[in-house]
Amino acid sequence: MTLPADYHMHTPLCRHAVGEPTELAAHAVRHGFTEIGFSDHNPMPRDDWDDWRMLRSDLDDYVAKVELARREHPSLVIKLALEMDFIPGQEAWVRELAARHPWDYIIGAVHYVSESWDLDNPKRISEWKTRDPFEVWTAYFERLTMAAESGLFEIIAHADLCKKFCFYPKEDCTPLFAKFMAAAKKNDVAMELNTAGLRKDCKEIYPSPQIVRMAAEAGVPITFASDAHAPGEVGANFTEAIALARSVGYAQWCRFTGRRREMVKL
Ligand SMILES: [Zn+2]
Ligand SMILES: [Zn+2]
Repeated sequence: MTLPADYHMHTPLCRHAVGEPTELAAHAVRHGFTEIGFSDHNPMPRDDWDDWRMLRSDLDDYVAKVELARREHPSLVIKLALEMDFIPGQEAWVRELAARHPWDYIIGAVHYVSESWDLDNPKRISEWKTRDPFEVWTAYFERLTMAAESGLFEIIAHADLCKKFCFYPKEDCTPLFAKFMAAAKKNDVAMELNTAGLRKDCKEIYPSPQIVRMAAEAGVPITFASDAHAPGEVGANFTEAIALARSVGYAQWCRFTGRRREMVKL
């Protein structure tokens, strides 16, 4: 069986990952991958935005490091991508970055539910204790839906990242998920199955089996993602992610080249 591509991997330029792209690529080759993609955290217009993304001056270096990995691993298809934050008001910045290099795809991610709160940041976990989880999940999924509608992204990242620290609402969130799924379908955006959730407190793939099932029923295509922040995490738990996808009826994953999609048999 050919493994689906691991389309979500980070590099030390984001300041919280280890392993150069060529090292992650070597790991991917050893584990039988034929295709991967790097999608490090995009720079923001101000370098003091936060401390977990590449700086503006690092973008060209990032591209050069991915190109070096390509040269050193000619048997592996290596895609060039970014994980870009979707923050209302920053759309022009996303477009500007998107025009700078020949990206194969752009992953849209919601980490910020307000101007100042990145809800998955371990340093900001105390903020959760002052909030109603349902309000946070609602704000999160509203932004995720806007990201899907924005036309800026090929793939939406870790669709229920808000479960990371296990602050689950008592209320039924199905309507929030359904709105997002309708937007993804209508705007032809793919959703990733991201195994990093298994390495966090929530101990579950992003998104949950319920949401993956809803995506399959809506006909939203998928990609696979380890969200590796170290070489040893490349392709982590892909067996579980593939089993989850198959269990709800997926028989294909998406390949992206130059921001164009083709479907590949799973
Ligand atoms: Zn992310
Ligand atoms: Zn990521």
